[in-house]
Amino acid sequence: MAADLTPPVARPAGQTLLDLSVPGRRASSLPACDVPLAPLPAGPLVRQGLRLPEVSEVEVVRYFTRLSTLNYSVETGMYPLGSCTMKYNPKRHEDGARLPGFAWAHPLAPEAASQGVLQVLHELQGYLAEITGMTGVSLAPMAGAHGEFAGILIMRAYHQSRGDTARTKVLVPDSAHGTNPATAAMAGYQVQAIRSDAKGNCDLDDLRNALGPNVAGMMLTQPNTLGLFDTNILEIAAELHRHGAVLYGDGANMNALLGRAKPGAMGFDVMHLNLHKTFSTPHGGGGPGAGPVCVAPHLLPFLPTPVITQDAGGYHLTAPEATIGPMGGFHGNFGVLLRAYAYIRTLGEAGLREVTDNAVLNANYLRSRLAGLYALKYDRPCMHEVVLAGTLQKAKGVNTLAIAKRLIDYGFHPPTIYFPLIVEEALMVEPTETESRENLDAFVAAMQAIAREVEESPEVVRSAPHFTPVGRLDEATAARKPYLRWRPSE
Ligand SMILES: *Cc1c(COP(=O)(O)O)cnc(C)c1O
Repeated sequence: MAADLTPPVARPAGQTLLDLSVPGRRASSLPACDVPLAPLPAGPLVRQGLRLPEVSEVEVVRYFTRLSTLNYSVETGMYPLGSCTMKYNPKRHEDGARLPGFAWAHPLAPEAASQGVLQVLHELQGYLAEITGMTGVSLAPMAGAHGEFAGILIMRAYHQSRGDTARTKVLVPDSAHGTNPATAAMAGYQVQAIRSDAKGNCDLDDLRNALGPNVAGMMLTQPNTLGLFDTNILEIAAELHRHGAVLYGDGANMNALLGRAKPGAMGFDVMHLNLHKTFSTPHGGGGPGAGPVCVAPHLLPFLPTPVITQDAGGYHLTAPEATIGPMGGFHGNFGVLLRAYAYIRTLGEAGLREVTDNAVLNANYLRSRLAGLYALKYDRPCMHEVVLAGTLQKAKGVNTLAIAKRLIDYGFHPPTIYFPLIVEEALMVEPTETESRENLDAFVAAMQAIAREVEESPEVVRSAPHFTPVGRLDEATAARKPYLRWRPSE
């Protein structure tokens, strides 16, 4: 791939329909109207001087068709955004979720009229319990962070139920996703960071020093956000339990464990899953997710409502005896739950295991092909994602942000960058299992080309992207002061 700076689209970036306007041009050509014109209402109801675009039909069609191609998605190309598991989502799940019996089910319909819906939810609870090795599941939480919040409330309710009210701290590794400390803080806990050791595991000495009667629990991601399996997990669980603390599992990385390893067997007491990551629901635009919370036997009484149970009379919406209550309206994000159900049923146990095997294989393939060109802070086999670092390039004056932006020119969505925080110039690459060998090779070729450009023509990388309507956005301001409607330019 050569560094070609010629934009592939001749049309100027950022053009609006008004820019295309030509006085008198129309998007319709119909016979003269034979309906008498009614007089316009008087006064302020009629706005004068509206600048409406005057364009032909084909211009309107081309304009909106072009707009529709400006967003990148999994359906456009590889989307290796680490930690987000942007896998391809089979279309059959959409068909399943749109079956009229599901799509038209009303959440207030009586139980007797909702038995099919409740059966699906009950079976999904069972599958997720089996997959995670946990005992009970509530499908109520509507995102990963929401599931974390449910889990920490369960942790707190458990300690309170035992009259154990002196626990004020939650431990979180320094590699953790930002939602973990945020969740613990939102639930009223003090957060204490635990160091990672030289291998990228949780540092056991630091953990032992932090543990005491004031620790409510620990939030741990397995494999962690360095893409590494924490090989200290059994000791970590034992240490926490020795101190009466609860081990919370952030299950966002289950794509590395399906059918191969169960958090329940590792000593986790409570965990959440991200159905929109691991279990195949389109996400990334902020659209609906689901973060079921799964617990070991001693935490069953605290699960959020509803939990679906079955007896001789059928399926029921029930409230566990000491429930933390509802997490939102009704039964959770039913459409997302249906897609997960379809995914699990169509793949089966062997298929799910293959998902994990290929996800881990793909990440290690990228790791071995890019090692050397890009730095690797922890040089050991990874799980479903690999955290590279742009430190070699940074030393030559090109930072990781520029590498990420240059990848856009090569047709790839950038990986996650500058996270985890403990890896300088981090490039967190998660290819997922749904990319072919050819796609991985194309990504490697782009990363190689960029590394070469850093040596030979660093300015090309530093000023990327070159072909997008907008280049470097002020993302913080965009998130805090979003423009949610069209505004005429002055
Ligand atoms: C995505 C993610 C979360 C949060 O999940 P949301 O569904 O985005 O709220 C938490 N932890 C990790 C490790 C994640 O990757």
